[in-house]
Amino acid sequence: VGASKVAVDLEDLQKDLSAAGVRNVVGTVVDNSGVTRVKCFPLGKLPSAASSGIGISEVMPLYLVNDHFATGAPISGPTGDLRLFPDIGCLVQLASAPGWAWAPFDQHGQDRKESPGCQRSLLRRMVDAAGSRGYTLKMAYELEWFVCRASEKGLLPIHCGPGYSANAWAASRPLVDDLLAALEIEGLMVEQFHPEYAVGQLEVSLPVADPLRAADSLVLLKMTIRTWAENHGLLVSFSPISVAGQVGNGCHVHFSLWDSSGGNLFASGDEPLRISRVGERFIAGVLTELPALVSLSCPSVLSYSRIQPHLWAGAFQCWGHENREAALRFITGTSGIEGRGANMEFKSADPAANPYLVAGAIIAAGLAGIDRDLRLPPPVAEDPGNLSEEDRRRLNISHLPESVEDAADALANSETLKAAIGEFLTDCIVAVRRSEAKAFAGVEFRDLVEQHLWRY
Ligand code: GLU
Ligand code: MG
Repeated sequence: VGASKVAVDLEDLQKDLSAAGVRNVVGTVVDNSGVTRVKCFPLGKLPSAASSGIGISEVMPLYLVNDHFATGAPISGPTGDLRLFPDIGCLVQLASAPGWAWAPFDQHGQDRKESPGCQRSLLRRMVDAAGSRGYTLKMAYELEWFVCRASEKGLLPIHCGPGYSANAWAASRPLVDDLLAALEIEGLMVEQFHPEYAVGQLEVSLPVADPLRAADSLVLLKMTIRTWAENHGLLVSFSPISVAGQVGNGCHVHFSLWDSSGGNLFASGDEPLRISRVGERFIAGVLTELPALVSLSCPSVLSYSRIQPHLWAGAFQCWGHENREAALRFITGTSGIEGRGANMEFKSADPAANPYLVAGAIIAAGLAGIDRDLRLPPPVAEDPGNLSEEDRRRLNISHLPESVEDAADALANSETLKAAIGEFLTDCIVAVRRSEAKAFAGVEFRDLVEQHLWRY
């Protein structure tokens, strides 16, 4: 995956792809509800797609997970056209769908100007905003998802646990071999793979990269998993909860802040944790904005059944050193490699989230923390879910929003995130969240799981 907007010789690229057997290109936009939408075109159309884009309706930012459109939003109706421009520098041949290449789309208006609704452009702007102050971000995603086969008896998970076990590995290994090989061919060098805690749940951790490349890699990983699953007659789910009664799927985001001389600002301060003052201000900014951030990282009505106490899913607005129950888990890294390894893991995020929005908002919140010279409270060492209400109040630890509406209200009230995301996109996201809340109001939990299972 290329960094973005890299100058490429289109003719050479087309020739190389054609020689490699590519006939078609699938481009992706992750919408505000978290669904990955596609437009496809033959390889021969690559030059025109790259120069004038592919058309799509302007109501794209208002799509809901159930394919209805949000109401109460700044746009409506059938008129207008957006242009989707494939980012050619990021184009990759899909190893599990060899006749196909994939590229992420940027959204522009017909006037060629960046669309105010383009989430990927928002992330690029935030990376630039950090860069203009002399900071670089590194990010990485861990994707958990559910794999099963359909049978007459219902869905058969790819493994039946135990969590993280050799048995679960042995059951999934014959199928997973092929996936790991595909990822390697695509240049996605996986950090780790393991069977996760829930039945049928797997996890792949992606490598650390610049924020745009990290988000693109997550989209590519999911595209690869989808095509791999089809090839093997498997069904995959990226829903926050795939099986009622089991723990959910997380998509934790790791981030670290670096200075212009290549120093890790999460590892160059005082003992014991060695977070620098700038690093502290950045993290404090993210901590402050968590309730609003959650509306981006937990986009679905189901997301809130996942971020519950005692599930390692980040239910509380707090940070801690290696605390898996804190929304922000600080990782110093094994001794000897702290400079390289220190980073923060944001746990209250799931695979339904749009990674461009989440990453953009993390950077915006962190930069605001630097500007406002925020300080961090002491790290929380215990499970906040085991503290009494009163102790939590005393330590200033709140539960994160418990519904999609509450999180949307937090976003609508966050001056920091609104300023970064822009009024248009913020209004669209808030409208999508409130419309989904309305669409699924009163639906029983098992039906909710059912209705979201294959959507993301
Ligand atoms: N499945 C958990 C979640 O929903 C995470 C488990 C882990 O820490 O890897 O986030
Ligand atoms: Mg995990």
